[in-house]
Amino acid sequence: MIRVTIWNENYDERNGVKEVLAVHPDGIHNTLKEIIEEMDGVEVRTATLDQPDCGLSDEVLEQTDVLVWWSHKQHDQVPDELVQKIQEHVLKGMGFLPLHSSHYCKPLKALLGTTCDLAWRDDCYERLFCVKPGHPIAQGVPDCIEVGIDEMYSEPFDIAETDELIFVAWFDSGNVFRSGCTWTRGYGKIFYFQPGHETNSSYHNPAIRRIIQNGVRWLYNPKQRTTLGSPHVEVTLEEQRKQEK
Ligand code: ZN
Repeated sequence: MIRVTIWNENYDERNGVKEVLAVHPDGIHNTLKEIIEEMDGVEVRTATLDQPDCGLSDEVLEQTDVLVWWSHKQHDQVPDELVQKIQEHVLKGMGFLPLHSSHYCKPLKALLGTTCDLAWRDDCYERLFCVKPGHPIAQGVPDCIEVGIDEMYSEPFDIAETDELIFVAWFDSGNVFRSGCTWTRGYGKIFYFQPGHETNSSYHNPAIRRIIQNGVRWLYNPKQRTTLGSPHVEVTLEEQRKQEK
């Protein structure tokens, strides 16, 4: 069972922004919940910024195998103390899936150690090319995906060197972008995926939904650690061998 927590700043939704509610009537977190609940073997909960502890108490983090993150305008409202806890959970093996404008979220910046700056403009036509078709995250999706209209993100994208680059976006503004990137930090895996501006309907595109589902499955690490730090070696290998004889 993969325990997934979906975090959303839920800011536009709480403020009744019609253009966002038109695409995500129950909030982006519930659109994402619907996508992930289509998978077998998952247990999904949502958490939002307006809840106590931003919805991410120690208990919730402890019970999360994969944390999906969507934020845009409220990155700074996430307390540094929580960012540090998220970072530690990733190092211990929790998967992390920052989506779209979450390229700027504090936990990703902390994990990568870069500004995560990029160039952008409003609605452009996007085509997504898979550059690593054999990767588990790319299974069951075409090599070229017609995303349609989404916010344009462009290189240069100031991220740490990727472990794997899986998707590259082309926009009809002439820009290109590394849209699907992975990293490992400690025992944890990270997958950043670009589509999903709040007023565009990319999360209703079957190929985008499949990539998010594949991402959640790939991010799951069954061998999570319970603590950080190196254990003290009580018995040397030599002594252990003697005992076994
Ligand atoms: Zn956006």
